[in-house]
Amino acid sequence: MPRRFDRYIEPLVDDVRFGFYREISNFSERVLAPRVLKLEREKSLVPDDLIAQMGQLGLFGLNIEERYGGQGGKLTDLVLMGLALAYHAHSMAITPGAAASLGSKPLSAFGNDAQKQAHLPDLAAGKRMFAFGLSEPGRGSDAANPETRAERDGDAWVITGEKCWTTNARWASHLIVHAMTNPEGRNGHRTTCFIVPMDAKGVDYNEMAGKSVWRMSSTGSVALDHVRVDNSTVLGEVDKGFKVMVDALNGGRLFIASLALASIGSALDKVADYAQERVQFGGKVIGRFQRVQDVVVDLDIAAEHYANVILDQSQRYDRGELPRESPAKAKIACSRTASHLLVDAMEICGGVACLDEFGLVRHHEDLFVTRVGEGSNRALKTQVAAALMPDIKRELQ
Ligand SMILES: Cc1cc2nc3c(=O)[nH]c(=O)nc-3n(C[C@H](O)[C@H](O)[C@H](O)COP(=O)(O)OP(=O)(O)OC[C@H]3O[C@@H](n4cnc5c(N)ncnc54)[C@H](O)[C@@H]3O)c2cc1C
Repeated sequence: MPRRFDRYIEPLVDDVRFGFYREISNFSERVLAPRVLKLEREKSLVPDDLIAQMGQLGLFGLNIEERYGGQGGKLTDLVLMGLALAYHAHSMAITPGAAASLGSKPLSAFGNDAQKQAHLPDLAAGKRMFAFGLSEPGRGSDAANPETRAERDGDAWVITGEKCWTTNARWASHLIVHAMTNPEGRNGHRTTCFIVPMDAKGVDYNEMAGKSVWRMSSTGSVALDHVRVDNSTVLGEVDKGFKVMVDALNGGRLFIASLALASIGSALDKVADYAQERVQFGGKVIGRFQRVQDVVVDLDIAAEHYANVILDQSQRYDRGELPRESPAKAKIACSRTASHLLVDAMEICGGVACLDEFGLVRHHEDLFVTRVGEGSNRALKTQVAAALMPDIKRELQ
């Protein structure tokens, strides 16, 4: 069934892309939506059969070049996938989304031929995933200075530290580990990225317990105890690891913004339908009350506005024309608006909005991650401020 915000998406992309968006929306409606509630109540992660079906649709290889078995798509295609899948649950979108934007993207952008040949075909087929190991228990926003260390030992490197909040850790064959290699180096020239097999000696993964957002998404903590890897695992250049991480996060922020927009679109449909059905005060549907209409219209305004912002930015990103701080601004604004509006939307639906089966409370919880994930909104404002005020930028360097 078409969603109300589809009419805003359609004119912003070409016919092929809109067809892809509709196909994935239909898949989400037909295959994912009927299973979300039961899976969440059972505290289950995205089950293997759904991951396999997403793999068959090519979702894990969306942004991988065709010569490695991928779809040859761009960030705009990932954003459309995010809009289509997150409409029912962010977890369903973030699983292929993080695998693509944080897993295979750094490899495509910075890997050498041997690394690409070794991994991209399997990643494109959804047979395995890469996870993104930037955050640590003591290093969240201050990610440029990891406590994880990698030290040279002959031709090898020995890595020790801990990564946390690692999306897709449960399914990952490898973790891209961001580690300190040159503590005395200047900002941005202190760290290196390594492609570390999850089954290497000294790697210990645990699923993080008690997470009440993105419930079906795997979020792991990964301990690295003197993990020995050879030089061929270095991704990009030695001491230039932060560049690898920042490059992935930049595009990833528009993907995260697409999840927030999907929540707005979902709430719009839910509230507009409910307001035409729910009867109070002697046979009047609540949609006749202007203060109820206020919320429906606020959701609609936000849906149209952020569809324009996010799809315009993603297409400019794909053409290499987007300033670095723009995706951060889109994520900040869309996630903040979406979480405020979700509370209004729930209020309009009254008590029923508290029920998990109604669907809005899941969006309300999941939206919290869009405010902190891939850079906390407040910390990201420092990046935006630096672009506006060159003196501040010089002070940060
Ligand atoms: C569900 C989930 C999945 C995630 N997946 C991944 C993943 O796959 N890989 C990965 O590496 N990480 C992942 N993360 C981690 C995420 O990127 C971090 O949570 C985020 O960077 C913030 O770090 P922190 O939580 O340690 O908060 P902190 O850095 O401790 O910040 C706490 C708060 O302090 C304030 N603050 C901090 N610094 C500043 C500043 N400079 N200016 C202004 N205010 C500031 C902000 O309000 C911020 O929210 C995930 C997180 C979640 C919740």
